[in-house]
Amino acid sequence: MKFSRLFIPTTKETPSDAALPSHQFLIRAGFINQQGSGLYNFLPLGKIVLDKIRSIVKEELDNAGCNEVQLSFVTPIGLWDKSGRADTMGKEMLRIQDRHENDFVLSPTNEEAMVELVKNRVKSYKELPVNLYQINTKFRDEARPRYGLLRGREFLMKDGYSFHANKEDMNREFNLMEETYKKIFTRLGLDFRVVDADSGAIGGTGSKEFHVLANSGEDTILVCEDCEYGANIETIFEDEKEVVSLNELSYEQLQEKDVEHKCSCGGKLSFKKGIEVGHIFQLGDKYSKALEAIFQDENGKPKAFEMATFGIGVSRLVASVIEQNHDENGCIWTKATTPYMVDVIVSNAKKENELNAGTKIYEDLKQIGISSILDDRKEKKHTYGFKMGDFKLIGFPYAIIVGKKLQDGLVEIIDRRTLEAQDVKLEDVVSKLKELIS
Ligand code: ATP
Ligand code: MG
Repeated sequence: MKFSRLFIPTTKETPSDAALPSHQFLIRAGFINQQGSGLYNFLPLGKIVLDKIRSIVKEELDNAGCNEVQLSFVTPIGLWDKSGRADTMGKEMLRIQDRHENDFVLSPTNEEAMVELVKNRVKSYKELPVNLYQINTKFRDEARPRYGLLRGREFLMKDGYSFHANKEDMNREFNLMEETYKKIFTRLGLDFRVVDADSGAIGGTGSKEFHVLANSGEDTILVCEDCEYGANIETIFEDEKEVVSLNELSYEQLQEKDVEHKCSCGGKLSFKKGIEVGHIFQLGDKYSKALEAIFQDENGKPKAFEMATFGIGVSRLVASVIEQNHDENGCIWTKATTPYMVDVIVSNAKKENELNAGTKIYEDLKQIGISSILDDRKEKKHTYGFKMGDFKLIGFPYAIIVGKKLQDGLVEIIDRRTLEAQDVKLEDVVSKLKELIS
């Protein structure tokens, strides 16, 4: 892709309500723009990142045997009456009326609709298990939409629902999904932790959250440095708000200390800030019973499905990558999430030799499957400094600078994370880049 052809409206202005780096940089670098409170448009670069995340999520889920579907975003209120959630969901659930005064809901989640889909279509234990998911718009009329994509009102979520003949099988799937989620977040290049979680309004028992570690995270989690143990502090304080059942210290005392030996493995526990990017729940038969979704079990008896539900905040992940990976200049994308791997910067695109050399590098990279963008812009304001500023703000992993050194047969490779530059012979640049990326 050529920079001159791509719509990337970068700006120097920081939105006044944008407190967090991801919110500021994603807007300033032209990835997203705000349409209204908690409502965002994805511009070309933002859409590429969103789709990359989405396809990694899809690939791993499909590998694990899940089936992608797409449910209608608008759901009749009757569905929510059946489960009782028309009353309990409160104002987060946005209701609308059609011209005939029928009531509908902009789906905040889809347990009811998925149960209705499977009900009467899966009739025997022999057809189980089934795991259906979608990657689709959700609407939650959040009391305080904030932090850009981290807490929007309209957002993209992967929501999955599994149906089982018994608890053992549901447990097996729950564990499989935990492993699948770990693969997804690892592939995205994120530092994350899995923690025990409060199951909140959706209900059920077993529940785990996946948190991307970032100082700006809204959640506080307690993690062991030696074993896999981790918990959202909400669970620890569920019953006794003041006393931590682990070792009788108050939360404040715990925060001061970075507790030594609380974990049962003998390891050191410490507090971290996390952004919840995934959540898996064991639902049991709560929804299948309420909606009378039954199948015939091995003994020919009617039984309600055992269920579990699995969410991933796909649009929240876009911002989470940046909360974990940025500096004072802008974004630093991970290799799996970056819109393009290399920014080929032609220092002065009016100089034919520079433009030709840059274009050749860009074509050669394309040939070997390394995605790149050619900064061929040539208006007066498009100085080398301007283009470097955009490179740092947008956050492609590497830049190749084609400029003055070309007369000595050299170009420069810049690593966005370290901002270190190295001179490379023009003829070696593509192979050098290939080496760096792998
Ligand atoms: P939170 O505690 O952050 O409000 P939640 O627990 O209500 O989230 P879930 O019902 O577990 O959210 O939804 C599954 C996933 O959807 C979450 O783990 C999160 O990544 C994402 N998500 C939830 N609410 C939002 C939102 N308002 N904006 C963006 N992503 C969200
Ligand atoms: Mg949650």
